[in-house]
Amino acid sequence: MDKKFLQIKQEWLDRCVRCGSCRNVCPVFNETKEEPSVSRGKISLIDMIQKGYGKLDKEAALLFKKCTTCLRCQEICAMDVPYEEIILKAREAATEKFGLFPQEKLVTTLLKNEKLFDSAGSFSRLSYLLFRPSNSPQNVVSKFSVLGKGTAVIPAIKEGKFNYKDKLFPSKSEKKGKLIYFPGCMFSRAYVKTSKNIVKVLNHLGYDVFVPSQIVCCGAPSLHAGDRKGFEELKKKNVEVLNDIEADGIVTGCATCCHNLKHNYGELNKPVFQFLEIVAENIDIIKNWRAKKPLKVTWHHPCHIVRGQNIPKDTPKKIFESINGIMYVEMEESDNCCGMGGSFKMLHPAVSDRIQKRKTLNIIATSADNVITECPGCIMNIAEGLEKAKSNISCKHTADILVECL
Ligand code: SF4
Ligand code: SF4
Repeated sequence: MDKKFLQIKQEWLDRCVRCGSCRNVCPVFNETKEEPSVSRGKISLIDMIQKGYGKLDKEAALLFKKCTTCLRCQEICAMDVPYEEIILKAREAATEKFGLFPQEKLVTTLLKNEKLFDSAGSFSRLSYLLFRPSNSPQNVVSKFSVLGKGTAVIPAIKEGKFNYKDKLFPSKSEKKGKLIYFPGCMFSRAYVKTSKNIVKVLNHLGYDVFVPSQIVCCGAPSLHAGDRKGFEELKKKNVEVLNDIEADGIVTGCATCCHNLKHNYGELNKPVFQFLEIVAENIDIIKNWRAKKPLKVTWHHPCHIVRGQNIPKDTPKKIFESINGIMYVEMEESDNCCGMGGSFKMLHPAVSDRIQKRKTLNIIATSADNVITECPGCIMNIAEGLEKAKSNISCKHTADILVECL
């Protein structure tokens, strides 16, 4: 019997009555029609391994990662099976036994090592100059072919790191409070303009914004890959820095960082907010804002916002409908996963592509000018899908749209 598996509470596994309702909502099962893709299948497998009837082998380790952790199964489960906790513990046990998959090792090493990440950023900026940028409206470098597995589109890193060396951005509007901005890895390096836009919008809403220089990756990629030790190290550094700063709260524009900070950073001494939540609290201000030209927009719900944080589904609609000149259209399956799911895209690219294609077609069907969302992983993956489809719809963050309406 695999001892580590004994740490998964048997009571959690026993709650699953194998009803199969999760099969109706799982984006991965929807594409594969294979039982091990869905939570019911994974719970059965974990239960068998824990009871000694099955083996924790590499195939099982890969199956634990055949899941985008979109939490749709957990949301509809009538038996309250804590699927996220179960799968993260299973991944942890598998990683302890076999180590990380090479793709995960590469990403987590990069995100944990500031200097290495900065060098990669410099290399990307150089690539941007050397490779011909794509003509699409996405913020991307041209397509790269990936070891015969098709093409991948990566964000164009055109600017240096978002690092203001402990700078305070004071608001000139009526003061609402002081917030610490936690950009996260992707908004620090790949989508720097979005970080600047987030700070600018918060200032307009009346918040002083402090950007600490010493924060590191929130650790979500490590945690989801099963590297708990790596996650704990990063968390410790962040908690020390964030708890030392006097502020009314912490804000981030990244769905995964926010979900992680809210659920796994119990030691924080101040509340954490998703940027979208702060904007929603200030609808009385933004209803006086106007788009420079008429704009039709749609919204993709990041899994880590709509389910991970339970932010009401109509929040983006309320925000964008309140701005003059913006027409909001709901897309079909707006809360369905985009297919990114962290390492899922790297470990199961064919299934990820199919989920991405479904999302792309739903976006194109709206004929919107922009699809808006609040997660850098979703932005990257959706931009790639739209690029492949040669669509003119561009994928942007909430702040990128709001800054055009000030
Ligand atoms: S919906 Fe819940 S109880 Fe039903 S099979 Fe899925 S995990 Fe088990
Ligand atoms: S979290 Fe999402 S992808 Fe994973 S099993 Fe549940 S529904 Fe499927």
